[in-house]
Amino acid sequence: MNNLHVKILLQITLVLIAITTTPCKAMEQMGKNTGYPISAVPFTKVTLTDDFWAGRIETNRTVTIPFGFKKCEEEGRMRNFAKAGGLIEGRYEGQMPFDDTDVYKIIEGASYSLTIHPDKELEKYINDIIELIAAAQEYDGYLTTWKTIDPNTTPARWVRPGPRWYHLAASHELYNAGHMYEAAYAHYRATGKRNFLNIALKNADFIAETFGPGKKLDVPGHQIIETGLIKLYRATNNRKYLDLAKFFLDQRGNAAGHRLYGAYNQDHKPVIKQDEAVGHAVRAVYMYAAMTDIAGIMNDSAYRNAVEKIWDNMVSKKYYITGGIGARHEGEAFGENYELPNLTSYNETCAAIGNVYWNHRMFLLSGDAKYIDVLERTLYNGMISGVSLSGDLFFYPNCLESDGKYKFNRGSLTRQPWFDCSCCPSNIIRFLPSVPDYIYANRDDSLYVNLFIAGKADAEMDKTKVQISQKTAYPWDGKVVIKVDPQSSQKFAVNIRIPGWAVGKPVPSDLYHYLNVTNEKVTLKLNGESIDINMDKGFAVINRNWSQGDTIELNLPMPIRRVIANEKVKDDLNKTALVRGPIVYCAEWVDNDNKVLDMVIPDDAKFQAEYKKDLLNGVTIITGDVLDASGSKRKLTAIPYYAWSHRGPGEMAVWLPRKPVLSSAH
Ligand SMILES: [Zn+2]
Repeated sequence: MNNLHVKILLQITLVLIAITTTPCKAMEQMGKNTGYPISAVPFTKVTLTDDFWAGRIETNRTVTIPFGFKKCEEEGRMRNFAKAGGLIEGRYEGQMPFDDTDVYKIIEGASYSLTIHPDKELEKYINDIIELIAAAQEYDGYLTTWKTIDPNTTPARWVRPGPRWYHLAASHELYNAGHMYEAAYAHYRATGKRNFLNIALKNADFIAETFGPGKKLDVPGHQIIETGLIKLYRATNNRKYLDLAKFFLDQRGNAAGHRLYGAYNQDHKPVIKQDEAVGHAVRAVYMYAAMTDIAGIMNDSAYRNAVEKIWDNMVSKKYYITGGIGARHEGEAFGENYELPNLTSYNETCAAIGNVYWNHRMFLLSGDAKYIDVLERTLYNGMISGVSLSGDLFFYPNCLESDGKYKFNRGSLTRQPWFDCSCCPSNIIRFLPSVPDYIYANRDDSLYVNLFIAGKADAEMDKTKVQISQKTAYPWDGKVVIKVDPQSSQKFAVNIRIPGWAVGKPVPSDLYHYLNVTNEKVTLKLNGESIDINMDKGFAVINRNWSQGDTIELNLPMPIRRVIANEKVKDDLNKTALVRGPIVYCAEWVDNDNKVLDMVIPDDAKFQAEYKKDLLNGVTIITGDVLDASGSKRKLTAIPYYAWSHRGPGEMAVWLPRKPVLSSAH
């Protein structure tokens, strides 16, 4: 081991200096070349000034990214690359065949972070890791460290040792490749440097020589190489990568090419014939995201039909009110239709992240706000719950109820610093810096405002550049002031999403509805004057000649609402959940005399909302008089679901009964 590598292994603390910069050209160009009719305004063009997301992204930058790299050093993930490259001796360290991917995912998040906060030290650190990755790559492009170090041993009992591509259902070799492509693409976009991209391309070229018609016909056991290949296609315009992505998708469920893995891997029938969200939830949403890419880039209606049907099934029957997906611990999988338990709900953080990726693509394909409704619900609840406010404690599953006994978080009752399988922490790291990607989008002469987050963005319309800004205290307040500043006066449409939650539809299906519909209406003003709301696909469309300083004021009333689940959801029968705006609430033991599972929320209970600046980084809480199980009066304090489990383990519930045990017997 030379000095350089000793330095990498010892370097723990990263000093990150925040300075503003202009995004690199590579990123700008690739952001447009997506194959979708609608383009996201890239996060490099978006500046956040809000109290909710800007703080989370900053914590990700200053705490979670260095923490993740440190964990990867301590647990041997960096050493695995050095060993595979022959730089040091030793066995593979780690219990998973995909430990390489944690390094890739943290590089991805760190790269995106670099585009907003240039940091020479971090850039150098990443470059040193890329040198290790290059060393670990075999002469022909192959790269999976556990196989290269010793293919005759196995990191986990469920993976059989053997030569390359043996037991591909579990070996994760193509999964490792996919995360490498995603990271290399991010690094190239962020820095303009090709050192990581070249490793990825060499690997992808080798895989394209190995797999395809007339060659190996197997499919990856865990999807992600498909979206990764599509990103390489975007970076290079080389059609080979797109074709290989489609090949892997088309091969799924095709028994002529390989022994089918079954529904757990979404390999039970051809993807264009699939119409139900099944199997391992993370594998599933990564695949649906790739299918949506194919539908967009190749204008493939069979793929589009399939993802629309699967989406309908998921949102109508397999979707938690928190936006979580994947109900079962067993197999980390979607359950049967309406199988949505609370105490044992799984809802892997990675699945929530994958669901955001997928729904964003569905929006870019269709321009329909219902996909952003799903994205937003997941973002503010079941995704951000996955990381603590401090940035260094995580949920792998995100349950909707705790009895203080069932160790839901992979053997723990509360948030954990890391896991033997650390996919979720590293996924949080790669995902969070890209949150500003989801706020704005544009198409020809239409500008979309999808999410309400204070800050500003520069959008390039067909005929003019437009700066758009938002002032709002969302998600705690539904007033949003949007200023539209075109470079020169121009006619175009501003499409402002009117969230389903604000117009009586908490989700775009009949899976959940509100108990009480309030009379408070969404209102819209233009330059101080009330205007009629002209709706199209969930957006209020204002099509006019815009001039500098034009101001829109949107008001989304945020009364405390009660959600009722479809009666086919047995676990939520006769129960209600409290929500306010996009935020789902829960009652936690620490605010409620140590006990919440005996609580009853009668339909006539009155509630108040109050913003607490000093609680849990600033949250709006809900308080009111409720009952206990025997019908006696007691007080309820509810906090946002995402913020639970910061004050020790104990009882928590999102869904609570509407009637005391005694009276409900009648
Ligand atoms: Zn995970």
